[in-house]
Amino acid sequence: MDNTDATYQGIDLEYYLPVFKRLPLTVTHAKGARVWDDRGNEYIDAMAGVAVNSVGHCHPHVVKAIKEQAERLIHISNFFISPSQVELAKKLAQKSGLHKVFFANSGAEANEGAIKLARKYAHSKGRGGEIISFTGSFHGRTMATIATGKQSMQKGFEPIPEGFTQIPFNDIAAAREAISDNTAAFIIEPVQGEGGIHQIDEAFLKELKSLCDANDILLIFDEIQCGIARTGYFFAKDNFGIEPDLLTSAKALGGGVPISALLSNEKVANAIDYGDHGTTFGGNPLATRAALAAIEVIESENLETEAAEKGQWLKSKLEELDKSHYDIKEIRGAGLMIGIEFNFETKPLVKYMLHHGILANATAGNVLRLIPPLTISYGELNTVIGVMKQAITELKKQ
Ligand code: PLP
Repeated sequence: MDNTDATYQGIDLEYYLPVFKRLPLTVTHAKGARVWDDRGNEYIDAMAGVAVNSVGHCHPHVVKAIKEQAERLIHISNFFISPSQVELAKKLAQKSGLHKVFFANSGAEANEGAIKLARKYAHSKGRGGEIISFTGSFHGRTMATIATGKQSMQKGFEPIPEGFTQIPFNDIAAAREAISDNTAAFIIEPVQGEGGIHQIDEAFLKELKSLCDANDILLIFDEIQCGIARTGYFFAKDNFGIEPDLLTSAKALGGGVPISALLSNEKVANAIDYGDHGTTFGGNPLATRAALAAIEVIESENLETEAAEKGQWLKSKLEELDKSHYDIKEIRGAGLMIGIEFNFETKPLVKYMLHHGILANATAGNVLRLIPPLTISYGELNTVIGVMKQAITELKKQ
């Protein structure tokens, strides 16, 4: 089976729609913060399936919950009640302070739901349905969510849905100027992920919240990447003490099983009626049971604290590096969501690190994104830094 990897790569090229420029790695199994390829090579995972595997790969508690649930009930229509869905809705409402929960399957889908709810609420108040997003944001790949994003993602997919405006991130004057009777909501990531790990400015956020409250405009937090303990709080909003009207969550929520959630406060939920929204799979028993188990792990292993402490440690280790030798421009982030901006393109760096046993991710051109499982050990983080240093030194020689 020496040629397995080449075989899989060949089949992938032949049959999978060419939308991902794949790295040359066929992953067969994983555990904790370790991943193995089909040749038996071991890797440290510093990207966690893009912020999905926060409790580590195949956490035994999550695996057990999935196995047990699969034997009892995998799927049932949302026309019926399922115990795990009800339990998860209650849990998320209690943890967030928001009131109602809707489940979907992906981040983009949760954001679609948020956009619909925001418009329904705005229309009920006689307002228009415009959604304002921010430069550098990423909210998904569906038609409405690409309308909130950068133009390069929209190219070729016209006509782009109407009613979306983008303004500069962290710019309160631009926000004030952009609003009108037509504005339904602002959608914002408390920490931008794909955009290169940019944190929202706290003073900006406070002013944005006041602006929203004064004009009955809704504030939507997209916590799809930064939520579920990654920044040191279960919800990233709790870094700021600011309550959004709507909050979307996905990625790490299901411990690796696809599930997303849309959380709403009471006033927005009251604008929604039976038949306004729906889903076949969203929040099915298997996915919600997995999510409950993942949350139990986060709570029992204190992963919020782990994320905060390990993130602090990692950041301080990175800050100690000789910035000019390693061509580092800036180190940003919160908890275990760290971006290192270099003065060079990071794709070759990621490739080098992959060949030396580390899965990391390049985003926004010059940024190396480190978003490992929150269960990663300090030793493993040290290895990630070591390989990164070695990679930069070697690449500089080329
Ligand atoms: N929102 C944010 C902040 C994201 O990071 C992502 C995915 O990277 C999405 C939305 C879209 O999520 P999905 O790929 O699950 O649709």
